[in-house]
This record gives sequence, structure tokens and C-alpha cells, in this order.
Amino acid sequence: MEAKIGSISGDGIGPEVVREARRVLDAVAEKFGHTFTYEDILMGGCSIDATGLPLTDEAIAQAKSCDAVLMGSIGGNTKTSPWYQLPPDRRPEAGLLKIRKALNLFANLRPAYLYPELRDACPLREDIIGDGFDLVMVRELTGGLYFGHRETKEVDGVMTAIDTLKYDENEIRRAAEKAFQIAMKRNKKVTSVDKANVLDSSRLWRKVVSEVAEKYPEVSLEHMLVDNCAMQLVRNPAQFDVLLTENMFGDILSDEAAMIMGSLGTMPSASLNETSFGLYEPSGGSAPDIAGQGIADPIATIVSAAMLLRYSLNLDAEADAIENAVKKALADGYRTIDLMPSSEEDKANVKQVGTSGMGDAIIARL
Ligand code: NAD
Repeated sequence: MEAKIGSISGDGIGPEVVREARRVLDAVAEKFGHTFTYEDILMGGCSIDATGLPLTDEAIAQAKSCDAVLMGSIGGNTKTSPWYQLPPDRRPEAGLLKIRKALNLFANLRPAYLYPELRDACPLREDIIGDGFDLVMVRELTGGLYFGHRETKEVDGVMTAIDTLKYDENEIRRAAEKAFQIAMKRNKKVTSVDKANVLDSSRLWRKVVSEVAEKYPEVSLEHMLVDNCAMQLVRNPAQFDVLLTENMFGDILSDEAAMIMGSLGTMPSASLNETSFGLYEPSGGSAPDIAGQGIADPIATIVSAAMLLRYSLNLDAEADAIENAVKKALADGYRTIDLMPSSEEDKANVKQVGTSGMGDAIIARL
């Protein structure tokens, strides 16, 4: 197969982790006889520095010309970087919101799976971890609070800020459809998260999700309030199969899910539209605190590349090969700094490596 993959390195650790994911993709291409070419696309702080904008129309056109896009992460230190002196619509994150909207990437998938080898890195108690967990979060990505009307103004002499949380039934339906389709390939259970005891948008969410569920009689549906869900994720994560949420709830809950996996550095994500096109990126940010040191964990980006092969290019065997190689590298004791066990005794049983060392270990096990 020949495929053109957009490559957004971005800022901070982005270029470091994308480099490793591309090396893994190249190794897969060689092993399975494919040709992957890359189109470098500017986005985020590096795009601001080069063009004055976090994402140009040319960059969007480049992304649209690709079969799928692999991304690192964008943004800098929000307290010290000059990018955050700019008006909000010119900051790095505006590029992220713009590309999601421009490419209609309405469904964000975040698998949270406990690698048995990373039980030590999981902050939950042994009795809660039990046999581990394996869930997928499906987060609506182009609606809700982050895309609604917002303004800050003085009302009767008092500074007042307004954000608008709006969903229409079509936006809810298409996200729900994705969740049920994914559940059909997994354990056939959807937990839809809302705040229907308070919010109108959540009451509509609950109604539309229940309607979609009627088309999937084999899938069981439960509704859960978001505050309860935040608690259940650390109390009994194994109860979940597919977690369906609106945009902001998903933003928060997915970081919680990443943390119980052990590190933000291991959780991949895929943002999909109605076609096979997708944008694939690690769930974490640009980690400016460790950027440039060669110590960032590349696993989330490498597994995101596996998702790209699976969802956009339909290359299941190749995706399996990457995921298995990651598991083998972990089983053989390779750990980046974020995954290092805390006790000296456990440290003696693993090998600490940097970003490219982890890439090498995974490529060697493909
Ligand atoms: P972050 O995810 O960048 O970092 C949080 C913590 O997790 C840090 O201690 C960091 O070192 C660690 N971490 C994250 N990824 C890691 C990895 N691969 N290996 C090892 N450790 C890792 O979140 P933050 O500090 O809140 O945000 C930093 C910047 O990233 C901000 O500008 C923010 O806006 C941006 N951001 C971008 C995206 C994106 O590009 N999609 C997502 C979230 C945050």
C-alpha cells in the first residue's frame, strides 16, 4: 500500500515523540512491503513563530491532502511562553480547535488499557486494579462548551464572563453512533456520561443516546452522571467498556483515565470524522517541563500510529504488530522515566531508557 501521512511535530516534546513514531512506521512499512510518505505540517507555537498564526489555511489544505495525520502535541509553558501573551484565537491551542473543526473530527477515541507490566505505575490499590481494565473513551470533540459563543464584558460595572454549552441532536447522534459501533466490536456495553440532573444539554444528550441505542439491541446502555463517573473510574475501572461523553467531560475524564494507566505518556488517541480520515496524537500535551531532554515517553504516539494504521489505512495486522512490540518492550523491562517504579528493589528489575531508546526497543520487537 502507498499512503501519504501528514506529520505535525508541533512543540515541546512533540518533535521527539513523532520522530520515534515515524521510525516505527518506517520499520512496519519495510516489514510489510508498504510505502509511507510524510507531509510535514506546521501547527501550534512553531507555526506562530513561522507564520504568525497557529494554523494556516495552507496547513489545513495540506492535512486534507493526506490519508491521515500523525501529530505530536502543541503549546508551551502557559505561564512563561510569549505565545500566551497573544489574543486567545492566536494561541497554539486555537490551531488545535481549528483543525478539529476544519476536518470535522467529531469523535475522539482514547483507549485506556492497563499494561500488566505497568501495574506498578498505576496509582490505584492492588485490590482495585484486580485483573486490570480495558476501556475506550469516546469523546465528542467539535461541539459543546469549547466551541460555543463566549465573551467577557462588563455588566452593570461587574466583569462577567460567559461560555455557552450548546449541542444539537445531530452532533449527539453521530458521536453516539461511533460509540455503539465500537462497542459492537468490543464487550457490547456503552456507559453514556452526562449531567442530566442539572443541564438541558445533558437531558437532550441522554434522550438522543437512548434513541440510538434502540438500533443496537445487543449493546447494553447505562447512563451515568459525570461526578459519579469520575469516582467510578478510580473505584472500579473494570466496569467500563465504552465510555461516551460530551466534549468537556471527556477532556477531564480522559486525563483521569490516562493517569490510572500509569502515565499520560502511554495513552494514545484518534480523532475521526465520517470518512476513514483521522488525526492521531498522544493524549498528553507538549510537556514543556521535559522537552528537549530526550526523556519523553514515545509510547502514546507510537500506539497512536498503530491506531492510524488500523482506523485510517485498514492495516490491522500491522497495527497489531506495533501494539505487540510495545507490550514486549515493556515486558522486557524497558521504561522511560515516567514509568519507572518508585522502589529501589523494583528499579533493579527494569532498564531505564530515553525516548529513542524506547523507540529502538519497540522497533527491535516488531
Ligand atoms: P502535559 O500533558 O504536557 O504535561 C503534564 C505532565 O505529564 C507533565 O509533568 C509532563 O512532563 C507529563 N507528560 C506528558 N506527556 C509525557 C510523556 N510523553 N512522557 C513523559 N511525561 C509526560 O500538560 P500541561 O503541562 O498541562 O500542558 C503543557 C502544554 O501542552 C500546554 O501548552 C497545553 O496547552 C498543551 N497541551 C496540548 C495538547 C495537545 O497538543 N493536544 C493537549 C494537552 C495540553
